[in-house]
Amino acid sequence: MRIEEDKKLDFKDVLIRPKRSTLRSRKDVDITREYKFKWSGRSYHGFPLIAANMDGVGTFAMAKAFIENDNKMSVAIHKHYPLEELIAFYDKHGSESLWYSIGMVQADQEKLEAFLKERPDMIDKICVDVANGYSEHFVDFVSQIREMVPKATIMAGNVVTGEMVEELTLAGVDVVKVGIGPGSVCTTRIMTGVGYPQLSAIIECADAAHGLGGLICADGGCTVPGDIAKAFGAGADFVMLGGMLAGHDQSEQKIVKKDGEKCIQFYGMSSDTAMTRHKGGVAEYRASEGKTVTIPYRGDVNDTLQDIMGGVRSACTYVGARHLKELPKRTTFVRVTQQINNVFGS
Ligand code: 5GP
Repeated sequence: MRIEEDKKLDFKDVLIRPKRSTLRSRKDVDITREYKFKWSGRSYHGFPLIAANMDGVGTFAMAKAFIENDNKMSVAIHKHYPLEELIAFYDKHGSESLWYSIGMVQADQEKLEAFLKERPDMIDKICVDVANGYSEHFVDFVSQIREMVPKATIMAGNVVTGEMVEELTLAGVDVVKVGIGPGSVCTTRIMTGVGYPQLSAIIECADAAHGLGGLICADGGCTVPGDIAKAFGAGADFVMLGGMLAGHDQSEQKIVKKDGEKCIQFYGMSSDTAMTRHKGGVAEYRASEGKTVTIPYRGDVNDTLQDIMGGVRSACTYVGARHLKELPKRTTFVRVTQQINNVFGS
């Protein structure tokens, strides 16, 4: 047994230190980024936020809202839509804002093959998602997908350490997804004791990926717009959100009344709720479970997106980053013992 003595940090452990700046207002800030993906050779230009491939988040309705919002954010469409509906949606809306999601199960691979047979060049981005990205089998699986779709951009994970980011990047992954256990409806840490503080995971994994010309997506653990700014400041190229985008009109979930308030159910993709809903479809998640929560209904996601973009823009102003790209270079984190003033409740 070995103990690593280095302190590892979460979003809650730090704040971004303000710096002298010549920026006059938030309007002077450009929060888009431009990337060229290592393997697909494709380009991306937009606000690099991705809606997670979860029921209630990675929905067609969310994708429509993102497309209309016009900031080139993207949605990892959850994998439980039937093939015909997926094809119809791609036909109608194009692929620019969409990640096609698959897990490491045969049924998903067959569905992808069937899609590619029908529309050979339509899928340009794929999200390969497993709870534990550390199995050798996963690396082989990702290599297979790379062979199947040589020209598609592949995002895959999840992992939390540099050596695995390197291995996946070398195996053909354009964007390595980072995060084990930080999710809002994830119980991995409770059930298994496994995980890694998310801010440190982002810092270390970004360093590993960037050294090889790869990219990372920070996935999970953002609870407020400031956490997203911290994730970008720590070096994340993309940030994926579940809980922060749940509970909106775009969730495609029933709105229920609880104590007179409108609420929506939100659940992890390996929770009992998801298992019951998609029998057999999520078996690969079984080792690390998720929970089900009832959250207040929050209206149109566009208001939340506005808050998020406003927060990130403002963070850039505080440190003098005219472009989002400069945020990590201008970020100094300070360790803190308190984040916010809770005198009137949290
Ligand atoms: P959030 O933004 O809600 O904090 O985190 C979203 C992420 O949590 C997702 O992108 C996914 O990686 C992870 N996640 C979603 N469902 C589950 C689950 O049932 N179990 C676990 N361990 N993680 C989940």
